[in-house]
Amino acid sequence: MKFSTKTIHAGQRADKATGAVVVPIYQTSTYKQDELNVHKGFEYSRTGNPTRQALEECLAALEDGRFGLAFSSGLAAEHAVLSTLKPGDHVIAAEDMYGGTYRLFEQVFKPFGLRFSYVGGSVRDFENAITAETKLFWIESPTNPLLRIADISAVSAIAHGKNIKVVVDNTFASPYFQQPLALGADLVVHSTTKYIGGHSDIVGGALIVNDEAWHDRLKFLQNAVGAIPGAFDSWLALRGLKTLSVRMKQHEENAHKIAEFLENHPSVTQVYYPGLSSDRFHLLAKQQMNGFGGMVSFKLKNGDEKSVNYFLKNLKIISLAESLGGVESLICYPAAMTHGSIPEKKRNAIGVSNDLVRLSAGIENVEDLIEDLAQSLDYFEKELR
Ligand SMILES: *Cc1c(COP(=O)(O)O)cnc(C)c1O
Repeated sequence: MKFSTKTIHAGQRADKATGAVVVPIYQTSTYKQDELNVHKGFEYSRTGNPTRQALEECLAALEDGRFGLAFSSGLAAEHAVLSTLKPGDHVIAAEDMYGGTYRLFEQVFKPFGLRFSYVGGSVRDFENAITAETKLFWIESPTNPLLRIADISAVSAIAHGKNIKVVVDNTFASPYFQQPLALGADLVVHSTTKYIGGHSDIVGGALIVNDEAWHDRLKFLQNAVGAIPGAFDSWLALRGLKTLSVRMKQHEENAHKIAEFLENHPSVTQVYYPGLSSDRFHLLAKQQMNGFGGMVSFKLKNGDEKSVNYFLKNLKIISLAESLGGVESLICYPAAMTHGSIPEKKRNAIGVSNDLVRLSAGIENVEDLIEDLAQSLDYFEKELR
C-alpha cells in the first residue's frame, strides 16, 4: 500500500460487529469476559482499546515500523522512552530542541540520575560526546524552532557501531515528509498534537519502534504508568490522519511561498526554511526528506520582545499561539513561549534569540497569509520609527 492509502486504511478495517466503515469510538473502560481467561483480546482500556489500537497500527504503518504505541501527549511518549534507561545512563541530544523535552530531561530525569549532554547537530558533535555510559542519541530533525537538519543515517551509523540507540523526534516533518526508521533510526517520537492530529483539537503522542524487546518494555510502561490517550482523542487522531497527505502538501506549498516572501522583505534579517535553496541545510534536507514541511522561522530587524509584540498582536488571520501543525496558521515567539523554560544565556547561544518568530503555515489561501504578514510587518516598521 502507498502512503496516502495507508493513512485511510491501515489498522482501520470495517467494524466486525456492524460493518461501520469508520473505526468506532470504543468509549468503554472494560470488556466482558466469557469465562475466566477467555476474552476477545481486550480486558481493560489502559492496557488496550480498539480505537487506540487502530491508531497505533496506522502510525506504525505510516512510519514503516513494526510497532506503534499511542500516549496522552508527546511528552508522555518521551517519558516512556527515558523510563527504559537506568540511573547513570547517558543521553546525547542536539541542543536545538523543543523546550519541553529539555525540561523533561533536566527537571524530571536528571534528578533520577540520568545524564544529558547537549551538542551541535553534526555527526562529529555526537561522536565526540560519547562516553562508556552513552545509551541514546536524541535527535529532532527539522529542529524546533531553527529548522536545522541532522544527518540521520550518518548519526545512526556512528551510534550502531557503539551499541547506542537513536531516537528521532519526527513531529516537524511528519511521516509524510520523513521516515527516520528507514534512515537507520531505532525509534520515532511524535507529538500527534501537531500535524498528525492536524486540527489543533487534541493533545497526544506516539512512539514507533522496530525492536521487539524495546517495544515490549515500552508497552509495559504504557500500561504500568498509564499515560494513554482516551478513545475519543485516538479517534480524532485517526480522523486527522486520513487527510495527512493532502494537508502536508498544502502546508509545504504555503510555507515555501511565505519563506520566499519573507526572504525578500526589508524588515526580515534571516529566514529559516530548509526548502529555500539559500538555506544551509537545503541539500541535506533534499537528500533525506520527501519535502521540506510547513514550518518557517524568521528574525525581525532590531526585534526584541516589545517590538516583536507589535508585529504579533497586529496579525489578523494568523493567531499568536503555542503549538503548530494545524490547518490554521499559528505564530509563536519561542523566547517567551515554547522555549521559555531554557535560560536566556543558553537560548541565545543556541540562536533562539529575542528577534526570532516561528510560523506554522496553515492551509488557508496563501495570498491571504502573505497579505496578513505584510500589513503587520508595515505596522512593526512604523512602531519602530
Ligand atoms: C509539541 C512538541 C513536543 C511535545 O508534545 P506534546 O504533545 O505537547 O506533549 C515534542 N517535540 C516537538 C518537536 C514538539 O513540537
